[in-house]
Amino acid sequence: MTASYDNTAIREQVRKLCAQFPGAYWRALDRQRAYPEEFVRALTEAGWLAALIPEEYGGSGLPLSAAAAILEETHHTGCNGAACHAQMYIMGTLLRHGSHEQKARYLPQIAGGELRLQAFGVTEPTSGTDTTALTTTARREGDSYIVNGQKIWTSRAEQSDLMLLLARTTAREQAEKRTEGLSVFLIDMREAKGAGLTIKPIRTMMNHATTEVFFENVRVPASQLIGEENKGFRYILSGMNAERILIAAECIGDAKWFIDRAVTYAKERVVFGRPIGQNQGVQFPIAQAYAKMRAAELMVERAASLFEAGAECGAEANMAKLMAADASWEAANACVQTHGGFGFAEDYDVERKFRETRLYQVAPISTNLILSYLAEHVLGLPRSY
Ligand SMILES: Cc1cc2nc3c(=O)[nH]c(=O)nc-3n(C[C@H](O)[C@H](O)[C@H](O)COP(=O)(O)OP(=O)(O)OC[C@H]3O[C@@H](n4cnc5c(N)ncnc54)[C@H](O)[C@@H]3O)c2cc1C
Repeated sequence: MTASYDNTAIREQVRKLCAQFPGAYWRALDRQRAYPEEFVRALTEAGWLAALIPEEYGGSGLPLSAAAAILEETHHTGCNGAACHAQMYIMGTLLRHGSHEQKARYLPQIAGGELRLQAFGVTEPTSGTDTTALTTTARREGDSYIVNGQKIWTSRAEQSDLMLLLARTTAREQAEKRTEGLSVFLIDMREAKGAGLTIKPIRTMMNHATTEVFFENVRVPASQLIGEENKGFRYILSGMNAERILIAAECIGDAKWFIDRAVTYAKERVVFGRPIGQNQGVQFPIAQAYAKMRAAELMVERAASLFEAGAECGAEANMAKLMAADASWEAANACVQTHGGFGFAEDYDVERKFRETRLYQVAPISTNLILSYLAEHVLGLPRSY
């Protein structure tokens, strides 16, 4: 793939690739809760998952808006980027905070598809959204850290070679601030599996390859620490804006898919001797969803352009995620309603996409937590938690 800043060309190429993975492909996987290996391989081989990796490390060095276009188109065609999207934003932590040796060792292999960095171990069963309350520990012992604890919702852990792990290196009571004392590690799961790391899949309402990961005295070379010890929380935070913008782009793609499907069906389906789409009761929910999707799309573009300019974009990235997730959910509802009973039939893909897009009200950050961010950091209201 040659580097190109022309998102129209990128979109066309992504659409062409995704056309090889139609609804029937995703339905079959959905029934078995199986990972879309061929789809992820095709995206990797085409270079799309390395879009944000700089050219000096074998990627295409594209800006965030190009990555957003890739993921939006993926979802617009009915495919699901959740199988691999994390590689795009997790990699940023390694890129921004990793040492020269770490970057030179891993990024070219990630860009070339020899290594997968798909797993992001932050959330824990007892801490939930309160990340600084996490209890997985990494204790220094000579040239290693010994990791003990448990993560939950670690998506793609079974399919990934590497995991970016956030663990406590200084007890919460001993840390100066609650955001201190956490560190980020790049774990080679190929070595750790069978040496204290075990993975247990979680069956979810949609096909998501998510898991619980248990660490029992897992020895991690100290050379796998990213950046400085105890500063890990801010490294993870620094990647959140990119994550939110990219997930928002996927939601825009989902919303467009739902709207396209709803419009097509509303024109074709004839009841009472006329297309159902002739009734305003059917038209208006689709038109509402369209207007909200377009507004959200503007916020995604705005957030991405601020991000690319190196400007502060926390508020815009959060609003983009909020508005885009709401727009895709509203479009999903309108699409099911438009399809009537057929909205529930597997063969139409609507119910599958409906389940898939519901996630984004909760993960990677829930709507409430975005609202409390805006209330506190943008509007200056008192901190609620
Ligand atoms: C399919 C899936 C994949 C995921 N993948 C990953 C992954 O790869 N890596 C990873 O680290 N995590 C992952 N997550 C975790 C995800 O980021 C969390 O589920 C999400 O952040 C919410 O955390 P929680 O589930 O613990 O909810 P909780 O923190 O328990 O919150 C439950 C509910 O209460 C609300 N709530 C909590 N506190 C407040 C408050 N102060 N004010 C108002 N409302 C509040 C929340 O909004 C939420 O609706 C995934 C989750 C899912 C479901």
